[in-house]
Formats: sequence, C-alpha cells, structure tokens
Amino acid sequence: MTKPIIKFENISKSFNETKVLNDVSFDIEEGRFYTLLGPSGCGKTTILKLIAGFETPTKGNILFNDKVINKVPANNRKVNTVFQDYALFPHLNVFDNVAFGLKIKKLNKNVIKTKVDEALKLVKLEGYQNREISEMSGGQKQRVAIARALANEPEIILLDEPLSALDLKLRTEMQYELRELQQRLGITFIFVTHDQEEALAMSDYIFVMKDGKIQQSGTPVDIYDEPVNKFVADFIGESNIVPGIMRQDYEVEMYGISYECVDAGFKKDAKVDVVIRPEDITIKSVSEGRVSAKVDSQLFRGVHYEICCYDEQGNEWIIQTTKKATIGETVGLDFDSEAIHIMLPGETEEEFD
Ligand code: ATP
Repeated sequence: MTKPIIKFENISKSFNETKVLNDVSFDIEEGRFYTLLGPSGCGKTTILKLIAGFETPTKGNILFNDKVINKVPANNRKVNTVFQDYALFPHLNVFDNVAFGLKIKKLNKNVIKTKVDEALKLVKLEGYQNREISEMSGGQKQRVAIARALANEPEIILLDEPLSALDLKLRTEMQYELRELQQRLGITFIFVTHDQEEALAMSDYIFVMKDGKIQQSGTPVDIYDEPVNKFVADFIGESNIVPGIMRQDYEVEMYGISYECVDAGFKKDAKVDVVIRPEDITIKSVSEGRVSAKVDSQLFRGVHYEICCYDEQGNEWIIQTTKKATIGETVGLDFDSEAIHIMLPGETEEEFD
C-alpha cells in the first residue's frame, strides 16, 4: 500500500440541521482512479467539495499528505475540479479558458503559453487554441475542461459527473480516454457518478455510498462479486437474492437443499441472503436445474435476453442468456458453486444513528 494522499477521519457534514455525511472515513492513495458511486443526494458532491475546500467539515479531519487541511482555502490546495456542466466561459476561446487559472496566478505569459499548449496536447486538442467554445462539440468541451484542470498541475483531479451530459457513444469513448489519461499521467482522479457500469469500467477503487455513509469500498471486482449488503448488490447491477441458511463454512442451504459456496466465517445456521448474478445462471430442463422456475417475461437487450422467472416460493429470478425462452414454460435454473455469494441480511443499508 502506498501512502494516502487524502485521508478522511470520521468526517461528518451537516447543512443547518440536516446531516449529509455521517462519520465517513477513507484513504485515497496516490496515482489511482477512485470513484464515489451512489444514488442522487447520498453525499458524493459534498465529499468532493470538502476535498476541494469549497466546504468545511462539521466534525472530523481531512488530511492531505498527512497534514490537516480542514481550513486551508480552496486556492491553496493542489486540487482541481472538472464540473458536470464543464463551467467553461462561453465568451473566451479555448486558450483563454485553459489559461484562466494560470492568469489569476499572474504567471509569466510565456510560461502560461507553454502550460496551456502542454495541457491541450494531453487531451488531444493541439491546434484548437483559438477556437470559440461555442464551436466545440460536447466531447471537445469536456476535454477543454480537463485541460484547464491539468494546466494547474494539480496532485488530485476531482470529476463531478463529467460525462453525464454526453450521449451514450461519446460517453463510452470518453470513459476510455479519461481512464487512459489518468494512467498515463499517474495523477490521482476522484470521479463521481451514479452510473454503476461507468464506475466498474473506469475505477481502481470504488466507494459505494448511501445516505451519507460508505456502504462498501473495494476494487470493482470485489464489489461486484462480493457485495456486503442488499443495497450494494442491487445498486451494482442486477442481482438475484434469495433466503438461505449457512449450515457450515462453504455450505449454504437454499429451499431445503444444501449447496457448496465460496463463503465462510458465518455463524452456524445463520440466516443469510444468497446472491447469484443473472449472467451466472443457465437455463436448462427442470431435471437438470438446481431451482425450478416459471418464465414470466423477457426483454431483448441487444447482446443478450433478460429473462424474468418466478420459483415455486414466489421469488423472482433474472437471467441473462443469449437464448430466447418460452413465456409460461417451467425451466431448471443452473449455476456453479462459485456463483453463490453470501451476505448477512442484518448488514443491509446502514442508516443514520
Ligand atoms: P447528486 O448525484 O444528485 O449530485 P450527491 O450524491 O452528489 O447527489 P450532494 O450534492 O452531496 O449529493 O448532496 C447531499 C445532500 O446534501 C442533498 O440532500 C443536498 O440537498 C444536501 N446539500 C448539499 N449542499 C447543500 C447546501 N449547501 N445546503 C443545504 N443542503 C445541501
């Protein structure tokens, strides 16, 4: 583990009487791509504002390279923000937009020109210096906003839903570009999104948030494969969640039948939630399946069909498969032991005290 560049120590933040962050602690390591993921209003932007210095914590300490920075003003932090709407100045051209912060710092003209040119090169906009902002496409405006942040040579770049205004194709392109840029430069990126696919695709590390608390932190694979509670399991893609009983380590009982699973460390006979991802299930004949279920509906999703079934206990199962199913047919659902993940039902959705 490398040294944390940012550390949140038991941070709470209230606006008037409303608590929007509740005892949040985390470390941000240098040079990685972090994502704050969660539904609208869970406190993602508030965390960015605390890091940027636009807000101060009500409780707790924020450390930057081991020094408490709670009261350090925004312009004295080596942090730059790229906003959702880019916050570009429409009356200034590309050069002047990127140069804006540097001019405020009253840097020498030649130094400003060098830094602006370098920043534009990094985002593949060399030669666009004299273009008006109104003549730039959505993706290009996005890159100008990133170049403006880079020109200040920050140690951390904060990105607040920077791709949400773009159409799907451009958004995917920019996901690749941003990820590639972060890896090339080795600067710490902290990215905010409520889009789980985007978070999984881009991040080294994700913090999943709800109601002002971090529900789970980990790599995309950890979070996808081993969600700690129902909220995370549902928020990070579709999940099938059915009740089970942990008979012993690596053995869970579902509907009276024992299955091998990959989890251990639960109390014997603990009631648990069993999670199985839709893409880990195959549809077979009833005699070949582990659970019988009746096909209720299906949607064509382009790369696969999403099939909704109900088992005999009335639990819903979503299955992703390349084969079409027959509505009303009873089928067998099959899955490997590695696909069975266990969560404690009690762990669900931490709320405020
Ligand atoms: P979104 O995805 O919608 O941007 P978010 O997760 O970024 O949401 P925040 O913007 O951090 O959420 O807001 C968290 C909560 O704090 C919201 O309920 C919001 O209304 C409230 N809030 C944020 N800033 C202020 C403020 N300056 N004064 C009062 N309440 C605020």
